[in-house]
Amino acid sequence: MDLSYRSPATVVRESPIHGHGLFATTPIAAGDIVAVKGGHVLSAVQWRALEPALGSAEIQLSEDLFIAPVDAAGRAGSMLYLNHSCDPNCAIAGQIVFVAMRDIATGEELTHDWATTDDLDYELDCRCGSAACRGRVTGKDWMRPELQAKYRGWFCWFLQRKIDALGAAD
Ligand SMILES: [Zn+2]
Repeated sequence: MDLSYRSPATVVRESPIHGHGLFATTPIAAGDIVAVKGGHVLSAVQWRALEPALGSAEIQLSEDLFIAPVDAAGRAGSMLYLNHSCDPNCAIAGQIVFVAMRDIATGEELTHDWATTDDLDYELDCRCGSAACRGRVTGKDWMRPELQAKYRGWFCWFLQRKIDALGAAD
């Protein structure tokens, strides 16, 4: 049984953005739940020990907690296959639930902006193809003021709390 939930209105297949992506098989309405991340709740030490073998498969829940698979057998069923886009049609609501930000048509790839969920050290070239593409995305994009404004209300709870703390320090 899969650790994560993906809506029956979706299918995983090859993506023009990267690897495999999640695609709508029927129209999805704004606000509908498209996926819920499942897995084991791990400390940062536990996850960092597993990450070299499993690759990116986690969501950070707090400074020291992650939700992730713990072995290769659980990895595929824990993946959400939500690629990054600089003009996403989905977003996180809370910590593990992903919802449609707008109505999504059949065949569209489901994406979210990783700036709203990630606090990591990566840098990569973006191939999302959107007019709003940043070109280069990083695991620290949540710190960019223009993205904090663009995604107000759409950051995961963990990052929103960090953004609020930065604002309070001004
Ligand atoms: Zn992009």
